[in-house]
Amino acid sequence: MRYGTIKKILVTGGAGFLGSHLCERLLAQGHEVLCVDNFFTGTRRNVAHLLGEPRFELLRHDVTFPLYVEVDEIYNLACPASPVHYQFDPVQTTKTSVIGAINMLGLAKRLKAKIFQASTSEVYGDPEVHPQPEAYWGRVNPIGFRSCYDEGKRCAETLFFDYHRQHALQIKVMRIFNTYGPRMHPNDGRVVSNLVVQALKGEPITLYGDGSQTRSFCYVDDLIEGIVRLMETGPEVTGPINVGNPGEFTIRELAEIVVELTGSRSVFVHRPIPPDDPRQRRPDITQARRELGWEPRIALREGLSRTIAYFERSLSAENAIS
Ligand code: NAD
Ligand code: UDP
Ligand code: UDP
Repeated sequence: MRYGTIKKILVTGGAGFLGSHLCERLLAQGHEVLCVDNFFTGTRRNVAHLLGEPRFELLRHDVTFPLYVEVDEIYNLACPASPVHYQFDPVQTTKTSVIGAINMLGLAKRLKAKIFQASTSEVYGDPEVHPQPEAYWGRVNPIGFRSCYDEGKRCAETLFFDYHRQHALQIKVMRIFNTYGPRMHPNDGRVVSNLVVQALKGEPITLYGDGSQTRSFCYVDDLIEGIVRLMETGPEVTGPINVGNPGEFTIRELAEIVVELTGSRSVFVHRPIPPDDPRQRRPDITQARRELGWEPRIALREGLSRTIAYFERSLSAENAIS
């Protein structure tokens, strides 16, 4: 698939879960891709299949340091996304979001390049408006365990909009809701990877709290399609724009579907609910429908089946090695 002008595109966090799928997609469109990653949560393995491609380049670099490269477009995805990983070194998480954004915006300003920001539904915090439209300002604890991520991402949005107003930068800010699929880190503590790995290994399935909290799960291919569509919009479209799957499930319902699809005999166990864990989350995607002509196509069961197949393959490869 090759269309339009071929561009040089920078993807920060390109060796991570979403970043690796995005690199793949941009290469398939014929573009040149510079993948920048410090390999904190991402791995070379995620992009190993792209290394032989002459239009792909991988650079180890931390976005909290300046980066001088020549590109036409920037996708800024660098930032650990799972609570376990972003709380491991919370100061570094805030630096990655805030200083990383400043550096990538400075780069975009010098190059007059269009820049995409992977923001998050976490900017809404533990919301009292449901589902969440973009106009909702959110309810975020500024001093809690999740704040390094939530406030870091909120500050990054502020920086994007100030660079847009002050320096006429073309920005594309997307608020991404929980996304899952192949290449999620098996130990990153996120609910889909945790539950699938536990079910496949026959280990107890951990429900935090009573499992009645809700999330909306978007399959990675749908999300990537939304990202690419947002980047293709005209300069008047800046976002922030919600992209996610409006199907809303309790964590217990998710666990029941995972058990059914894997045929697992795992039992459910309850663990304490982490502090500030949002009670409910569902995107209002009216804007994405209108401005991007986008809506998700892959239902939860279909996406989970593909994700389970991926984890089955990677767990059996692990067993073959050990
Ligand atoms: P991920 O952890 O798999 O990927 C993040 C990548 O960024 C990793 O490859 C990591 O090594 C890299 N990274 C971290 N700090 C860095 C730094 N200082 N310099 C350079 N690279 C760095 O997570 P993901 O799920 O692929 O998330 C990608 C982006 O999307 C993140 O910005 C995240 O906040 C955002 N997002 C993801 C979700 C989701 O459900 N997956 C939801 C909302 C927002
Ligand atoms: N920067 C970068 N690459 C560039 C240009 C800028 O990494 O090609 C970084 C640099 O660290 C700078 C930051 O982006 O401090 C913000 O740049 P800007 O031009 O907005 O402000 P400056 O700090 O240079 O006044
Ligand atoms: N969760 C759970 N068991 C797990 C991992 C997570 O019940 O093994 C819950 C968690 O408390 C939260 C939801 O699942 O309510 C989604 O958690 P995740 O870390 O995937 O993402 P986030 O909280 O950032 O949406």
